[in-house]
Amino acid sequence: MTLPLRPELAGLEPYGAPQLDVPVLLNVNENPYPPADDVVADIAADVAAAARGLNRYPDRDFLALRTDLAAYLLRESGVPLAPEQIWAANGSNEVMLHLLQAFGGPGRTALSFAPTYSMYPEYARDTSTGWVQGRREDDFTLDPDRAAATVAEHAPSVVLLASPNNPTGTALPLDTIRAVLAAAAQVPGGCVVVVDEAYGEFRRAGTPSALEILAEHPHLAVSRTMSKAFGLAGARVGYLAAAPALVDALRVVRLPYHLSGVTQAVARAALKHSDALMAQVGSLREERDACVAWLRGRGLDVADSDANFVLFGPFDDRHAIWEGLLRRGVLIREVGPPQWLRVSIGTGEEMAAFRDALVEVTGR
Ligand SMILES: *Cc1c(COP(=O)(O)O)cnc(C)c1O
Repeated sequence: MTLPLRPELAGLEPYGAPQLDVPVLLNVNENPYPPADDVVADIAADVAAAARGLNRYPDRDFLALRTDLAAYLLRESGVPLAPEQIWAANGSNEVMLHLLQAFGGPGRTALSFAPTYSMYPEYARDTSTGWVQGRREDDFTLDPDRAAATVAEHAPSVVLLASPNNPTGTALPLDTIRAVLAAAAQVPGGCVVVVDEAYGEFRRAGTPSALEILAEHPHLAVSRTMSKAFGLAGARVGYLAAAPALVDALRVVRLPYHLSGVTQAVARAALKHSDALMAQVGSLREERDACVAWLRGRGLDVADSDANFVLFGPFDDRHAIWEGLLRRGVLIREVGPPQWLRVSIGTGEEMAAFRDALVEVTGR
């Protein structure tokens, strides 16, 4: 019996880093701190209240959650947004799939610049959208003129820009994003530019958010997630901000009631505690900067990072380093350009374990 698998899926493995049972997990950029007791108590109480209504479908437009997310973005970035400008789904991965479902499709192209997040080509594949990968510069930045020329050359209907970028940690200046937006505005038939700010809250002081230029650009979408800074990866909540017309297009392709009543309750309960969570982000940023400085002190190359992870190298045999760390109970990620490795920022104790293990493995 042959299954009628789409030929482009033949032989493919599902995406995902190894989920290993190791004491120090520094491989998927999670927040190392579990939700505090008062957050857990609020989530439990609000989920209990939601449970009383689970015989009914949830609010499929989740307006209360969109209102709370808009209020959060105002506090975090200083940018006022209406609830109609917010969209959410089960992780920002689903948000971006919605974008490709609405704005990609057969005969169309999505474009990004490598090295970047390895899920982007998968959204394209799953929506039968063509895929073009431009290149970042050697220091992982984007040259505005070259990026604009790449957009003009390929005339994509969607451009995906991760900022801060995964796996390099590189944030894009607003002028670079503006150059891409200007080129996108010239694409016949239109082009949506998605700035994926999954790590936006970790950006260094003075690094702007693309939210600041949202009002002037109806073809810009800025994607965020509760998985990283918020420490809520297990809840699966991602969202974006964009012009209301762009959000309306996403409402067409979403499955009915895609965001469960439980998910909405969990997200809203956690958002009540955003101030405490932001304080924790500050200490993770400090831990990140210390990690960068320490690795450089060992003579390694380290990409500047505005995220909660650090890309470092070069190693002739990075797999051997990765394995040596794993044998010492520290799981990091073998990802990005050859010779580089990525470590997520953990607690102070976890980072000490990482440093000790790396010294043992590399002898420096
Ligand atoms: C982790 C990550 C996301 C967020 O994924 P969720 O589906 O929200 O958990 C999005 N983009 C990038 C680049 C990421 O690294």
